[in-house]
Amino acid sequence: MKSKNALAIIVLALLSTGLMSVLSGCWTGYYGIPEGTKQEFAIGQLHLKATGAGIVTASEQKTTFRIRCSMCGFINPDMTGDTPKMGDTFKMMWACPECAHIQIIRIESSSN
Ligand SMILES: [Zn+2]
Repeated sequence: MKSKNALAIIVLALLSTGLMSVLSGCWTGYYGIPEGTKQEFAIGQLHLKATGAGIVTASEQKTTFRIRCSMCGFINPDMTGDTPKMGDTFKMMWACPECAHIQIIRIESSSN
């Protein structure tokens, strides 16, 4: 009986920790971005804004970004794509290899 209560407390603690991390995830943006990456990046006149991924580094030609799965937290190896021209948006669908969650990656380019 005693151990059953202890187990219930552990489960409750785990549930509330999970809830807290979900809540704090909301505060850092819809998806949250991986550590060491930026949501926004400036290259001269270009201003990049990423959704669903974080920007590792960017030049006028190429943008390297890192995706973190919003469902399971899996961190994808860095990917590089063409930097969108001013006013354009780079878009892709990414499927998490761990949990098969589909995440939409957007990198919007505007003038600084
Ligand atoms: Zn996942």
